[in-house]
Amino acid sequence: MKILSVNAGSSSLKFQMYEMPEEKVLISGTFERIGIDGGMYTIKYNGEKKKTEREFSTHSEAVQVLIEELLNYKVIESLDEIKGVGHRIVHGGEHYTHSVVATEEVINDLTDISELAPLHNPANLTGIKAFQEKIPDALEVCCFDTAFHQTMNKKEFLYPVPYEWYEKYGVRKYGFHGMSHNYIALRTAEILNNPSARIISCHIGNGGSLCAIKDGKSIDTSMGFTPNAGLMMGSRSGDIDATLIPYIMGKTGETLEEVINDLNKKSGYLGVSGVSSDSRDIEEAAAAGNERAILSQEMYVEKIVNYIAEYYLELGGADAIVFTAGVGENSKDTRKAIVDKLAPLGIKIDEEKNNIRGEEALISTEDSSVKVYVIPTDEEVMIARDTYKFINE
Ligand code: AMP
Repeated sequence: MKILSVNAGSSSLKFQMYEMPEEKVLISGTFERIGIDGGMYTIKYNGEKKKTEREFSTHSEAVQVLIEELLNYKVIESLDEIKGVGHRIVHGGEHYTHSVVATEEVINDLTDISELAPLHNPANLTGIKAFQEKIPDALEVCCFDTAFHQTMNKKEFLYPVPYEWYEKYGVRKYGFHGMSHNYIALRTAEILNNPSARIISCHIGNGGSLCAIKDGKSIDTSMGFTPNAGLMMGSRSGDIDATLIPYIMGKTGETLEEVINDLNKKSGYLGVSGVSSDSRDIEEAAAAGNERAILSQEMYVEKIVNYIAEYYLELGGADAIVFTAGVGENSKDTRKAIVDKLAPLGIKIDEEKNNIRGEEALISTEDSSVKVYVIPTDEEVMIARDTYKFINE
């Protein structure tokens, strides 16, 4: 059975088509600059990548070209072979604890909670509508980045602010990267052969969050009301003192929106180093002796270590620490710097085993008190699995 796993952004659309239940990727691709000049798309098939320049004024036009390419590449012979389309939805609010079929009621509900994720949810919904229009017979499913974290307790997800902010306005920690943390929870439990394992999942990429997992459930996570909370990230500040905002507005004359933009787009690695939001550039500049790049790396590592220590205590110890996403999967130096700081807990890295990129591996020494792994994440397959489940029910 063929299933599409889709991630629609405001000007982009990424997809992977799976043969399920084998979880075999048949074809994948990315459409970029939808509704903007300079549109293009890339298709990956049989290990080869093909880039085509083409303008798209809407997501619906991109979906039309996607369908034409699926037929071109003969991945499908007719549209009715596509039984389901699963969509990544950033925010499911408090209501959605699992993936759901995208009924009219669900779409209306998600439109209502769009103010919780104004940059993401409207774009995700545009994606659903485009596929509904072009492949009306496929089952559309919504898979939420927040759903996995709905198992957190109130003492973990509430902010110490007036309680009615939560009751009236939904002010709480939601957490994100749920599909990634869930994938890591499942895969690690499988490797350890222990469904109740205590796992600290470190999803560190351009965005980053940590998650404390026990019995396959999220106990705590570092992102909050929005994805700009918790860790320092590529260009996001992570946690700051909120009173910094009016202070900077007063000093610079910037509007609230501009300061929020600074915290999202001009902070993190980029803000501290002044070099880049990309950890490869930071590593290069640091190796060349750039002091602010070195400082930004030290801060980045320290914040991750602090969360690991916090979750270690929260979980009453740990069976595994897992690195995933762009930096976690690829940067041996960042992994080593983090694990070296965990020495007081008896956690030790094996430098030879750590010398890998983008592959699953155990990277701790035999006498390490906690096993440390690199596990490439797979959010797309989680979407395909959930979508397949609904069709098979
Ligand atoms: P993601 O958001 O998961 O795609 O991750 C993007 C981040 O991963 C960027 O900061 C990249 O620089 C980083 N990354 C990818 N490859 C490497 C690498 N070889 N070394 C260090 N960082 C990397």
